[in-house]
Amino acid sequence: MSNATPAKPVVKKSGGLVNKTLHFLVHNGFSFTVSVMCLVHSILLAIFLFAGVMPLVQINAFSVLVYIFAFFLCKFGYIRAVYFSIILEVTFYTIISTYYVGLRCGTYCFLFSIVPIIIYFGAFLYKGAKRWSIVLMLVLNFATFIALYIRYAPIEPVYDVAPVTRLILVCVSAFAMVFSTIFYNTIYIYTAEREMGDLEKRNQQLSSDAHEDALTNLLNRRGFLPLVQTMMDDHTQDFCIAFCDLDNFKRVNDTYGHEGGDEVLKHVTSLIRKELPGCDICRWGGEEFVILMRGYNMITAKEKMEDLRKHIESNPTIFFNKRIPITSTIGLEEYKAAFNEPEEIIKVADARMYYGKQHGRNILIFEDLD
Ligand code: GH3
Ligand code: MG
Ligand code: MG
Repeated sequence: MSNATPAKPVVKKSGGLVNKTLHFLVHNGFSFTVSVMCLVHSILLAIFLFAGVMPLVQINAFSVLVYIFAFFLCKFGYIRAVYFSIILEVTFYTIISTYYVGLRCGTYCFLFSIVPIIIYFGAFLYKGAKRWSIVLMLVLNFATFIALYIRYAPIEPVYDVAPVTRLILVCVSAFAMVFSTIFYNTIYIYTAEREMGDLEKRNQQLSSDAHEDALTNLLNRRGFLPLVQTMMDDHTQDFCIAFCDLDNFKRVNDTYGHEGGDEVLKHVTSLIRKELPGCDICRWGGEEFVILMRGYNMITAKEKMEDLRKHIESNPTIFFNKRIPITSTIGLEEYKAAFNEPEEIIKVADARMYYGKQHGRNILIFEDLD
């Protein structure tokens, strides 16, 4: 057990380093790729120099120059040009090297080493239907290999290199193919995992946003009901629930348009916020507001809601230099131990508001009448 404690930070550090490296590689994928290509061609140049295959020394020197140039293209953001440079260079290099040293040296593996590159970078460069061009390039890549095989399998190459050189060439080209497959799949998995993580975070953000109404920024039912439930569970504080519905709101929309109606909703929201600081306010429905009045009993809540009703009545909304008057009908109920669910107390406040609607509107109802 005593060994377990010091081991922990080491694991975390190496995980961090791997992540940082992958992060770097994802963001410098093209530069890294052309640097590796440049290195591979430098190695091949040395091998062919050693084997005395001078045309391929020159071709590899040319390829090194191509990738040095491509490196600078990366720095200046010519990513598409780099993408095609890699594909064309590797395709022509494979054809020429097979012509000079034959299929048995395995340089055709370079063709397969660019398959993950075509897919990985192609997916960044092409979106939607244009992604079919990736499939086309893969088909051409495979067709090149078949053509190469048909053309060069029956004939002797220009240079018959020594078996040891052949072995080295097979190892280098096969390694390039395997490395490329592992490398690009690793960074693809890493990118996909990161994107999943980001997506989860965004989903969490969305679900927290879903607790609010977009127009007024008030709580919606999902955000509000748990707060009432908490108060009911708490038992240490009095509280009241007010159900406030704007009167003849449909007429506002009919007269001033939906935008005028929206403006009224936002204005009334600000009036409620000002009149009831510290209270939780919910946009229950279209023009309905439910207010959780913490620390209020029926006597204090009655006074406050009557003030609010008058405040709404006397503060019309200004919309394009026009005054839009509005009134509200409010139902009020105080919490009692008999209520088991938040919806029960809200239902009583709603029923009282409804009574107010049927008895003239612009009124506060705080008890059961009838
Ligand atoms: P009452 O006094 O009986 O409550 O009448 P009312 O017209 O206020 O009530 P009614 O339920 O008939 O109409 C409510 C209207 O609120 C209908 C709907 O188009 C409008 N409404 C709901 N949500 C919104 C919104 O977000 N913006 C706007 N502008 N109007 C809305
Ligand atoms: Mg209404
Ligand atoms: Mg209504």
